[in-house]
Formats: sequence, C-alpha cells, structure tokens
Amino acid sequence: MDVDKEAIRKIVEHVLEKKGILAASPASLFPGALNAAKPASCPALQETASNKGGPTGGGRPDTAVRIPAEASARHVHLTPEAAAVLFGPGALTPKRALSQPGEFLSGERVRLIGPKGEIGNVAVLGPVRKAVQAEVSLTDARILGIKAPLRLSGDLTGAADVYIAGPAGAVHARGAAIIAKNHLHLRPQDAGELKVENGGRVRVRVNTERPLIFEDVIVRVREDFMPALHLDFDEANACMLGDRDTAEILDCGAGACPSPERRPAFAPADAGSKSIPSKPALITEAEAKRLVCGRGGRLSLPRGSILTPSAQDVFLYARCKVEFI
Ligand SMILES: [Zn+2]
Repeated sequence: MDVDKEAIRKIVEHVLEKKGILAASPASLFPGALNAAKPASCPALQETASNKGGPTGGGRPDTAVRIPAEASARHVHLTPEAAAVLFGPGALTPKRALSQPGEFLSGERVRLIGPKGEIGNVAVLGPVRKAVQAEVSLTDARILGIKAPLRLSGDLTGAADVYIAGPAGAVHARGAAIIAKNHLHLRPQDAGELKVENGGRVRVRVNTERPLIFEDVIVRVREDFMPALHLDFDEANACMLGDRDTAEILDCGAGACPSPERRPAFAPADAGSKSIPSKPALITEAEAKRLVCGRGGRLSLPRGSILTPSAQDVFLYARCKVEFI
C-alpha cells in the first residue's frame, strides 16, 4: 500500500500542536511565530494578554513562545568525598537522565536532617560536583528548621548548614542548603530570538490551571541547555504545575521593550496620539491593547468608563495603572 508518510506526519503534528502537546518537545518549542516579523513594540504582551485559556485555550492564535516548565524536587549534589561517606566506595548509579544534558537522577537517596526535623527519600543528582549542595523549598527549610537563602544553583553565599545521611554514613554539610532561585534555561539561539541575555531577568507567565506570573526570573544561556523554566516545588504547587504545562516570557527583554525609564507614561499629554476617549467609554480588550504599550505607564480615562475583564488583564500584565478622572 502506498502510504503518504509526510502527510500523516503533518496531520499528527497538527493535532498534537492543537492539543498543546507538541510545544513540550524541544524541537518544536517555537511554533512559527518566532520566525515571523515582530511588531515594533511589546509583541509578547500582545500575544499573551488574550491567553486566558492557557496553551490549549480556545480561539487564540497560537503564537506565544512556549517553554516547558519543570518543577525541581528537593535534591542534593555531592562531592566524590561526600558520596563515599554516604554510600561507601563506588560511583553514583544513574537512574534517569534529566532535561539538562549530562545531568542524571541517581538511584541513591539520602535523608536531610536539621534542628527541627528531617526529610527522607531525598534525590541525589549526578554527576558529582565540587561542592555539596542541598536544594530545598522554603516549606522544606521550615520543616528542617534551617534558614536557607534564595540562591541560584552553584551560589552558596550564606547557605545554611544541614546534615545529610545515607546508608553508609552522614556528613555535616556546612553552608550547603539553599532555596533554588527560579531560572530559565535557554540556548543562545533561543535567547537571541527572544531578545534576552544570559544573566538577564524576565517576567514569566506559567500557563497552568492556576496561572501565575513570576517576576525576576534569571535567564541562563548555554549551548547545551534545553529550553526550560525551572521552579521549585513551592512555586510549582502555587501555580498547580502539570506535566505538560508551559511558560512564556511576558517581558520583551532588552532591546525589544523600552526600559522602565524610557517607557512612555500615559499622561494626559499623550492623549492626542493615543486617542484616549474624551467621554466615558467601554474599554474592550482590543481597545486596551491599543491604549497600552509598556510597563509602568499610567493611563487616565474619563470617570464612568468601564473596563471589560480582559481589558483589565491587558493593563494588569502591562503594569499600566489606570486612573479615572
Ligand atoms: Zn535548572
């Protein structure tokens, strides 16, 4: 039988994309829109403001750049010496590869012990590192009774002490426990297309059943990264993160959106160019998008004007304060 494989592949891709499944696969993270010409200002805002239904929400043109969102469970990284104390001689046994190349979940498990409590069955990630590091959520830190600071993985400045116990022994890991700061892994080409830089900070919206916007998410760019937003369990639970949920950058990043200082404020003097209604008006989502551009602006509308809920979202996402005068 003559099977048109290409046609079948296209149909399957189309269906998966509609269901929001394909976007979770790195190869098709950036459906179409990224290659298309972007409008001059705040394209992400334009795309996301109407995204009330998440990635599978009906009716919305599927143009937002979606990045897989992943929750990092509490875990430890060990030095070869600490691993030997906890488990005896021998290397960690890789059990499952993680999304970042080279990293793996090992078959070994440890217990974290603090002054107030302990947590068992904690994952050990490999390969071994130069420093022992325990990444816990704030909830975990409270259970353990330790004061762990919010840090990017690898930065142990002010990190808390914690005991780590394994089947063969225990170590007192001084300055090892941190609450992992959320971050966004990107490859250079992704960062280029999204107009963000390594070390930059972005606002990210997770498209979940209980959507949330995370401020101040650090961008980490490396050739061998897989694009992913990494949240800890407190954050993931706060937004009810599911397996295939994705995130999108709301901030356009350096160069695409004017910086807060340079963003236009919507003062009355701006009224002419923006055609702000002179009489009380009903402000729809489309009208709101026309009126708003950057974050931190102010918009004065005639008293008695009514904003639709989706128009309110547009202003909220744009951090544009609306006044009625
Ligand atoms: Zn990460």
